[in-house]
Amino acid sequence: MKVYKFGGASVKSADGIRNIVKIVSGVDGHLFIVVSAMGKTTNAMEVVLDHFMKTDKVASLTKLQEVEQYHAEIIGELFSHTALGFEAVKPLFDSLKNYINTAIADDYDRCYDYLVSYGELISTRIVSAFLQESGVLNAWLDMRKLLMTDSNHREANVRMDESKIRLKAAANFDDARIYIGQGFIGSNLKGDPTTLGREGSDYTAAVVGNLLDAESVSIWKDVPGILNADPRIFHNTVLIPELTYLDAVELAYSGAQIIHPKTIKPLENKQIPLYVRPFGSPAEAGSVIKASTTKPIDVPVLILRKNLVLVTIRPRDFSFVLEESLSKAFAVFNKHRLKISLIQSSAISISVCVDNTRYLNAALDELGNEFKVSYNTDLELLTIRGTNDSIIQETTAGRTIMLSQRTRRIARFLLKTEE
Ligand code: ASP
Ligand code: MG
Repeated sequence: MKVYKFGGASVKSADGIRNIVKIVSGVDGHLFIVVSAMGKTTNAMEVVLDHFMKTDKVASLTKLQEVEQYHAEIIGELFSHTALGFEAVKPLFDSLKNYINTAIADDYDRCYDYLVSYGELISTRIVSAFLQESGVLNAWLDMRKLLMTDSNHREANVRMDESKIRLKAAANFDDARIYIGQGFIGSNLKGDPTTLGREGSDYTAAVVGNLLDAESVSIWKDVPGILNADPRIFHNTVLIPELTYLDAVELAYSGAQIIHPKTIKPLENKQIPLYVRPFGSPAEAGSVIKASTTKPIDVPVLILRKNLVLVTIRPRDFSFVLEESLSKAFAVFNKHRLKISLIQSSAISISVCVDNTRYLNAALDELGNEFKVSYNTDLELLTIRGTNDSIIQETTAGRTIMLSQRTRRIARFLLKTEE
């Protein structure tokens, strides 16, 4: 069997969903389809949640109304029998409204997972019903009942053993040839919905591939495949046809947006190839990530990660022991879910580059108990792999470099974001 994953951009419009039908119709064997929320629905649901948390039900329901309207327009454009589409999503919007009217806004992360996971439930209901209307029979699955996770809300980790039993029982290909399930969502063992971290649907696809022993996993994207740089930022990009799992992990760690960092492990563990394919031109090969390649990457790879903060800490009492300070500081970053993308140490201080998230201030406060803390915001980290001086010159010219690190193969520059 194969796993196909379609992201938010692929399902953002009626045309996109028609294209899914076209792509899926071309597959003969067993298929498991993983789908994200439509377009920017996850962001919109985060706004619904924010109003709910501030106990502003009216604002929360008004925003939800916009989300419903957006989906209604797609349904209206897509279905010959629009009632089929509306029937598929009505119970979901009813439960959402009921939740907003009656639930208690206590724990942000738990409420987040309950509310925001509906984006994927709604999109899969629509895609499943439209495949059905188009004659592509399929069975819809509720991944909240199949993908078991820990209780680390908003960044949950999948419990592979428990999930395997449930997923294999539900998706046994006896009653259907094609299954469709949500990316990004699962639940803990108590049955509370959880989410796997933003952009986590790739991770779902990889986990499903691993648990069902897929022959391959394909992620359909609105790009030609994996490029050596983000074409929205850099010129003259080229396609990288083949990458190893290790290449892919390195790129994801440096902040390449193309693949969620957790995606590679479940695939590597079972040596399942991952195809990144162009949604707009399904006949093209795209890129493949696998155990070994015949063509090593021979172009420089550029990755730009934005909205970073450089935090510099120094023990208050001048008693600097690097190992001790590092482990204390890392425990704080870890507790506040701040991902570290660069570290530099000096005689009396440590500088760490982390994402600017809503947890940053709490982490800085806690560090302040033991360290003198200073920080710079609005930074970008440029990683250049397979580096040479002319590329460095070209990409950093005129920029303020806050910090740089260079090995033979990789150069990294922390740059001030340009106004
Ligand atoms: N819908 C979720 C998000 O936008 C998950 C995903 O798209 O992968 O983050
Ligand atoms: Mg998405």
